Amino acid sequence: MKHYVVSGGAGFLGSNLVLRLIEEGNKVTVLDDLSCGKKRNLKEVLDSKNFKFIKHNIQKPFSIRGKVDYVLNMACPASPPMYFNMMQHTMETCSMGARNMLELARKKGARFFHTSTSEVYGDPLEHPQKETYFGNVDPYCKRSCYDEAKRYVEALIYIYRHEYGVDTSLIRIFNTYGPRMRIDDGRVITNFIAQTKAGKNITLHGTGKQTRSFCFVDDQVEGILKMIESGEEGPINIGNPNEFTIKELANILIDLTGSKSKIKHTKGYPSDPKKRKPNITKAKKLLGWSPKVQLKEGLKKTIAWFDEIGYEPLK
Ligand code: UDP
Repeated sequence: MKHYVVSGGAGFLGSNLVLRLIEEGNKVTVLDDLSCGKKRNLKEVLDSKNFKFIKHNIQKPFSIRGKVDYVLNMACPASPPMYFNMMQHTMETCSMGARNMLELARKKGARFFHTSTSEVYGDPLEHPQKETYFGNVDPYCKRSCYDEAKRYVEALIYIYRHEYGVDTSLIRIFNTYGPRMRIDDGRVITNFIAQTKAGKNITLHGTGKQTRSFCFVDDQVEGILKMIESGEEGPINIGNPNEFTIKELANILIDLTGSKSKIKHTKGYPSDPKKRKPNITKAKKLLGWSPKVQLKEGLKKTIAWFDEIGYEPLK
């Protein structure tokens, strides 16, 4: 039985991964300050003898007795409206928090895994984005608390690997969605699902011609597990390369929900990337991974999940 310490394990992606790890017979300790995540996401495993939840802000150092095989660092607000509302918290969770998790991995001799992001590419001038692309990031804007902190952590991981010999790994995640997202998360898919379901106007930022490539969470979790088990260093892009304009996404959701909602063009976010699509050649070659769930199928599963749990924000 392997022991995983997972920071951010009550969040959307973290909780999906934790459930899978417990299902596969592992021991998991989750650290989460619940600033974005919800304990409700872990309902199915809270009573499991192999599971422990510790409310902890990783900006403070963390120590634990006994063996740790893997430290997975997944703590950080990931939705633009959320990190706009807690910029310092975001920057420090990403930077000091990641450092504390790297220290834990170093002390325990554990493999370290980190979820970096396509935001390290900023508003990209290369399309699709390969791991070798250095990015086009504004260091002084509302988004930089997230983008620059994520870039800093990548550099820090490099140091821990090459100066201290820690077994590190990192992936760059592209827009991921699915069950266990918060309906009030503020990201485009949850906003549009909530709006179409309620028959309210769809808030389409700007022209709606900007693109994203959406990855269903089960595919993302599969990619993460392959990365952790592979022994690879990364960075490796994990995302679904099928690209959609945000306007296309709005129309797909109007269609899937049979909604009477109308599209309302609103002001966009500052430094909003105009396009985003991963090149996943490296993931295919090194991990034998590629996504299986296409957008409409994933959206149907996500809507079905919200229909079951309800559209009220989770307590
Ligand atoms: N977006 C939108 N309406 C919304 C929320 C987001 O048009 O209510 C747009 C946003 O401006 C961006 C895209 O959808 O171009 C994806 O935004 P999201 O916040 O989901 O994530 P990002 O990829 O920007 O981190």
